Amino acid sequence: MLSTNQAARLLKQGEVVAIPTETVYGLAADATNQLAIQEIFSLKKRPTDNPLIIHIGSINQLDEFSKPLIEIELRIIKKFWPGPLTLVLPRKRNVPDAITAGLKTVAVRMPNHIKCLNLLQKTGPIVAPSANLSGTPSPSKVEHVLNDFGENFPILDGGDCTIGLESTVLTCRPNYPSATAQQSSFASRTFQSDMLIYRPGAISAEELSEFGSVEYYTPSQSKTDTSKTSTGSPSPGLKYRHYAPKAAVEWLSNVEQLKTLRYPVVVFLLDNTHPYTEFFADKAINDGHSLLCCEGSWERFGQLLYDTFRMADTKNYTRIFIQDIRRHNAKSSLKDALINRIEKAINGH
Ligand code: AMP
Ligand code: MG
Repeated sequence: MLSTNQAARLLKQGEVVAIPTETVYGLAADATNQLAIQEIFSLKKRPTDNPLIIHIGSINQLDEFSKPLIEIELRIIKKFWPGPLTLVLPRKRNVPDAITAGLKTVAVRMPNHIKCLNLLQKTGPIVAPSANLSGTPSPSKVEHVLNDFGENFPILDGGDCTIGLESTVLTCRPNYPSATAQQSSFASRTFQSDMLIYRPGAISAEELSEFGSVEYYTPSQSKTDTSKTSTGSPSPGLKYRHYAPKAAVEWLSNVEQLKTLRYPVVVFLLDNTHPYTEFFADKAINDGHSLLCCEGSWERFGQLLYDTFRMADTKNYTRIFIQDIRRHNAKSSLKDALINRIEKAINGH
């Protein structure tokens, strides 16, 4: 395990280091070092058209990368940074193409994690995608990073991630051309809202709606949807397989789903309100099922989601049932992000 000073030194020498944030662990490199950035892509086996988020430790580092901010961006930054919100901004020319995958925009965030902020004070801006092999669930604990990259991988230990889900990715310029005309038909679609969410996260649409109207991006919103087939997506990460374990994931909405199981499964519950909880508790102990309940805490549910996915795969469970939270009457700012990640896991992408 590294100290903050050691991690900073390695980063400045061009090494790739795993770092903690409040969302998930990141695989970090100096944002000005092309070779180190390439090393991230090769270590993760990440497609080169999937751009990286730049992490900064102070607001004045923003104009190294972005053209001047507009009013709504300034207000959002004031409210949510440091925090789990990534802003997609018009890029300056000097930003390496390796970071933006050639897009005309750049994604930037200031993480809300004390060790990470201390590190950023020592290093300056770093790029950091999630510290997992592409295709595996994002890492919310040190052990997840070490499972993917080996026991000796250099890591700054910041404890378990308090959110455990990737940041909200937002643009306040929904009609700004993100790619060249040849790459994308996106620019031809006119979005009506003030803000467009590419990826839901812990900062919810409702919280953002204080600043104007908000819309979720879906690939079918493009007039001609090129996002699955080429570099046409305005947020290319969306088209790749993410968040899914090897085990099959299903919503659990009916006790009948559990009655006829012939082999051990994982059951992941938000709370105890379901009629099946009691029924299943005995069965879990008797039949080797793994039953996890978050006692009604959405935060805990978020923190443990990817850990549950990884545990299932490590212990060779082939099915994971997750309490159906889609119609849960409790309000939580994490709800949309959780539904998004679970649905992607259910659909295997
Ligand atoms: P990860 O760091 O693995 O959580 O992935 C980064 C996410 O940010 C991906 O979903 C990317 O599509 C998104 N992203 C990064 N840069 C941009 C950009 N310039 N425009 C839109 N989305 C971006
Ligand atoms: Mg990722």
